[in-house]
Amino acid sequence: MSELNLQSVLLKYWGFSSFRPMQEDIIRSAIGGNDTLALLPTGGGKSLCYQVPGMAMAGLCIVVSPLIALMKDQVEALKDKGIKAVGIYHGLSKAEIDNAVDNCVYGDVKFLYMSPERLTTDLIRSRITKMNVNLLAIDEAHCISQWGYDFRPPYLRIAEIRELIPHTPVLALTATATPQVVADIQEKLQFSDQRVFQKSFERKNLAYVVIREEDKLNRLLKVCQNVKGTGVVYVRNRKRTREISDWLMQKGVSADFYHAGLDSRERDARQDAWMKEKTRIIVSTNAFGMGIDKPNVRFVVHMDLPDSPEAYFQEAGRGGRDGNKAYAILLFNNSDTIDLRRFHEQSFPPLKDIKKVYNSLGNYYQLAIGSGKDESMPFDLVSFASHYNLNPVLVFNALGFLEKEGYLAISEALANPSRIMFMANNEELYRFQVANPRYDPFIKLLLRSYSGLFTEFTKIREQDISRRAGIDIAVVRKMLNELHNMKILHYKAQNETPVITFLQGRVAASDLNISKAVYKERKVFARKRMQAMIDYVESFTTCRSLYLLGYFGETTAQRCGQCDVCLEQNKAGVSEYEYKQLADMIRQRIEEEEVSMEDLIRKLDMNISEEKAMGVLRYLLDNRIIIEDAMMKLHWKDKKSETAG
Ligand code: ADP
Ligand code: MG
Repeated sequence: MSELNLQSVLLKYWGFSSFRPMQEDIIRSAIGGNDTLALLPTGGGKSLCYQVPGMAMAGLCIVVSPLIALMKDQVEALKDKGIKAVGIYHGLSKAEIDNAVDNCVYGDVKFLYMSPERLTTDLIRSRITKMNVNLLAIDEAHCISQWGYDFRPPYLRIAEIRELIPHTPVLALTATATPQVVADIQEKLQFSDQRVFQKSFERKNLAYVVIREEDKLNRLLKVCQNVKGTGVVYVRNRKRTREISDWLMQKGVSADFYHAGLDSRERDARQDAWMKEKTRIIVSTNAFGMGIDKPNVRFVVHMDLPDSPEAYFQEAGRGGRDGNKAYAILLFNNSDTIDLRRFHEQSFPPLKDIKKVYNSLGNYYQLAIGSGKDESMPFDLVSFASHYNLNPVLVFNALGFLEKEGYLAISEALANPSRIMFMANNEELYRFQVANPRYDPFIKLLLRSYSGLFTEFTKIREQDISRRAGIDIAVVRKMLNELHNMKILHYKAQNETPVITFLQGRVAASDLNISKAVYKERKVFARKRMQAMIDYVESFTTCRSLYLLGYFGETTAQRCGQCDVCLEQNKAGVSEYEYKQLADMIRQRIEEEEVSMEDLIRKLDMNISEEKAMGVLRYLLDNRIIIEDAMMKLHWKDKKSETAG
């Protein structure tokens, strides 16, 4: 594929005139038939890395992704460009899935999106060899590694599919991977080439700031007042998103809130208002941001400690995509570490409780062992929990666990719009219309309003049909249901409530395949990530950017010069090296023996500039890294002293 061709594909379908750094190298590697791993930060343009090759080559590109919402967005975006794309996710009927797979074998579909659970079903396994697969793209590839922060066991089975299509190269993509995870991805996907493309994760225009603060709300208000432009505020708890946004509104700041408990129409409306800058600040749980691409976010504030540097880096990284200065601010105080530890414990419910929740769920839906596969049932967490006298938080976390293990999937309310497709062919339909004139105008209206109804499931809106036909929406639904029952068309009405889908037939709780060892190991890894996050906020001696980059295995970066640590060092008039040296020395002294401020200064090394030492000391005191007790003795306030009291 010549240079010109790739460029023209980019221009023709996406309207972009040039590739971003690394994109072209990655694309060429994949087109060259090499197994390739691409590490680009969030927003770096990973999708194009498989979409351009998919378009440039004959055949079909299979994309594996864990997030249904993102898959749907991408499928829709491709369709809008006139590119044939289909997605297979739970919640679709068997007929819809069969139809989609058929179109991949016999039609000219260019992109097939699937979850890893789907990829390894018998249906796909038996049909994939008949498809002309040009590329197997694995998005969010870190999910394959148990060391990754979002390990999903079903990813491990992707390798089985490689054997069925041995000549198809794999392109794995992720935004977060430590060196250990990078190696693991290649191994688990059975890479035959060692092609890793990694763009530095350095964000030169993003200033990381950690602030120890008891009164977080007022500090947040100050940030909103002092930094112009759009912002995102992350909190862990759904209820708090509303409280904080209300409070900001009271103080005259334009704000709204967002979390996964809102129905999707409401979420879309809020997100849209924020994108269009009708709302300035969005207060949200981590549900917000995935797939959102707003370049001019000027600040991202975290009111709670995220549970891993990976999560933090992704969320904070939503600031300043346009290259202009932006702030990533983390507000924390000592109770946060306690909260985070509790949160960590909660997200690993005891295995026996996970099994209990699974078992109760099977009973709730009266599923016999072995049955229930691919069945979707409406799900109300609160009533389920109270029915079995279970703690809702426990249920929530246990379900999260089961979801990652690939046993079930939960979709939020209204995630699935209504869809129809004709089952009758053109001729049969015509005969039906003649025989049933009552339906004739209605069918004609459908055919006029939507295209492709004979070949694929098409999103419809009952409201639109009702308006156009001048009939009540209830009548529209009734007619659609009748046509469905007469097998003239498939009608899938939209889900109004969250839906739970069993991805595997029910197994006896004792057969749940979660081994104690694996469970324990995962918890250990999660704890390590949590500790790395705590270390991030508790250290005031390492440049924030360097710390994060180091975590992801980049050791060659320079100090950023703009994070809170660097700024203080600048003020103290010392280099990073001097700062670290002085801070370490001071710490050592303080921990060796009880000293007062005076003692400390007196005992400082002769060949150290007093001015510099004072600068560092002042900083350590101002930031309460060192505190003076009632006896005027100094204490280094580190993790140990904090948890002790
Ligand atoms: P990622 O998956 O890495 O987080 P996306 O694939 O969602 O990122 O891309 C982020 C944004 O960057 C999208 O809006 C995309 O259209 C845009 N983008 C990607 N590549 C280019 C390019 N070469 N030129 C201009 N915009 C691009
Ligand atoms: Mg992406």
